[in-house]
Amino acid sequence: MTKYEAIVVGAGISGVLAALTLSKHGKNVLVLEKMQYVGGNCNSYTLDGFQVDTGPHTLTNLAAGPLKRLMDTYFDYIPVFEDCGNYYARTDTDFVKIPTNLKGFVTFEILPKKDRLALTTAITKAITLSTFGTDLSKQSVYDSLPRTLSKDTYDFVNTISYFLSGKSMKETSAHRVLTGSDFIKDSVTQEQFEAMIAKIEKPQQTESILQSILPYNLHAPLKARLDNSFVSSIPLKSLYSPLTYVGRLAATKGADLQGYPRKGLKSVLNAVLYSLPKTVVIKTESEVKRILVEEGRVVGVEADELYYADMVIYTGFAKNLSSVVDDLPKSYAENLNGIAQVKSLTIWLGLEKKLDAFNYIGSEVWFRDNSYWAMPITNYDSSLAPKDKQLVGFGFVIDENKTEQSETKKAYETIYRAIPKIEKHVELQHEQITIPEKAAVTIDGKIAECRTPIKNLYLAGTDTDSRSMGITRAAFSVVELLRVLNEDGNLHQ
Ligand SMILES: Cc1cc2nc3c(=O)[nH]c(=O)nc-3n(C[C@H](O)[C@H](O)[C@H](O)COP(=O)(O)OP(=O)(O)OC[C@H]3O[C@@H](n4cnc5c(N)ncnc54)[C@H](O)[C@@H]3O)c2cc1C
Repeated sequence: MTKYEAIVVGAGISGVLAALTLSKHGKNVLVLEKMQYVGGNCNSYTLDGFQVDTGPHTLTNLAAGPLKRLMDTYFDYIPVFEDCGNYYARTDTDFVKIPTNLKGFVTFEILPKKDRLALTTAITKAITLSTFGTDLSKQSVYDSLPRTLSKDTYDFVNTISYFLSGKSMKETSAHRVLTGSDFIKDSVTQEQFEAMIAKIEKPQQTESILQSILPYNLHAPLKARLDNSFVSSIPLKSLYSPLTYVGRLAATKGADLQGYPRKGLKSVLNAVLYSLPKTVVIKTESEVKRILVEEGRVVGVEADELYYADMVIYTGFAKNLSSVVDDLPKSYAENLNGIAQVKSLTIWLGLEKKLDAFNYIGSEVWFRDNSYWAMPITNYDSSLAPKDKQLVGFGFVIDENKTEQSETKKAYETIYRAIPKIEKHVELQHEQITIPEKAAVTIDGKIAECRTPIKNLYLAGTDTDSRSMGITRAAFSVVELLRVLNEDGNLHQ
């Protein structure tokens, strides 16, 4: 019987990133995944010649965020990122760029002029408060706005809230919108990161974290945009100093730190898998049914058989931890139970030809009545569809009080209203219903801590960190895991 130094439960992006980092610190690691495939929500697959992702994805915070830190230090191969372009808003009559700075808001003609001024004032106030230390994580977006706005403007703000947290503007915090829309940033400084990973023997090609690998892996337009952006004009070290936020608001040109991985989302997963040393074993179709604890300390897990280890990293739903661990303290289990989740619906439409409606690089929101976030991903990489065809993903948040069937029907109606006659060109129709993040960041929702009451049992994943979103958030959680393991003396043994 092999005893592992670490067992990782779950092979989603957080699980494989945890396995990669631990193995590069010299540990032998077993990863147990209950599904037949690895990657969880970070995946792509092919249907009738179209390659769909598990939801429309934009990877954020690529210049100095946690994913970049992990890629620089632990990846042997880094995916190429395409420019994610701009965000647009579509209505029955208009298609306009969504502003990312104050100047843009003033001229954002899709909303009434008086509302634009009110929004600009509210954003400036929130950023200023946040910059000088006011915690806006318990203040709702709705409460940060004046009561005089038109329905269109509330619908627009509600749509942005839904896509940043999965919940309405009354349940989403102002902090979430400021960070999610890149107006202010959570990040990991070089000093913080290097303090943790100092003892790793870095491969030759990743000399220094400051020496960016990314620009060489960015498609030319994205690299050019980074080079020209406000961001590249200031030293990386001061990029995330709070005092730059207001300057950023006035000057930023847009989504300059975001990318779409060429060849699809699975490229990110593949880059991690490619970088795994031979000391990592992955077993699929191995559901962990019990985490074994002796005298308050983790000793292994029970899946298809018993596996023993010095530590266990659990990346399944933290909300369900008490179903696999006996005798968790009651208040701790109750807190995990308070984690809020939402479901999303993605509709992928494979189109027989490229439509004029999607003649842009980026993504769009529809905010009237039922809202969507849509992304024509073949505009990033035409190889994701058969020649001259187009693939578009439409993301919706599912109302928990309605049936999936009625929500799906309503979603199709919204698409047909937003893009008249699109149904005539549909060759592939595919739906995905998923929980995009294991915890929705709402005002009252809980977030789990990386450390648990059981010694050497740790949590990682999108429900153990509230910073940023999706894969960036998963990467934040793994950086936090490394920090905690280092503090506990479990990283560098
Ligand atoms: C529609 C949609 C749009 C999205 N858009 C974006 C975006 O634009 N940008 C972005 O960065 N992110 C986005 N995301 C989110 C991102 O894909 C996820 O947040 C991320 O992939 C989640 O990673 P995770 O490892 O935390 O969780 P998961 O992917 O859920 O992985 C958990 C894994 O653990 C396994 N598991 C659970 N319990 C057990 C057990 N007991 N035993 C064994 N295995 C177990 C599961 O099977 C799963 O494989 C989007 C997601 C969706 C669905």
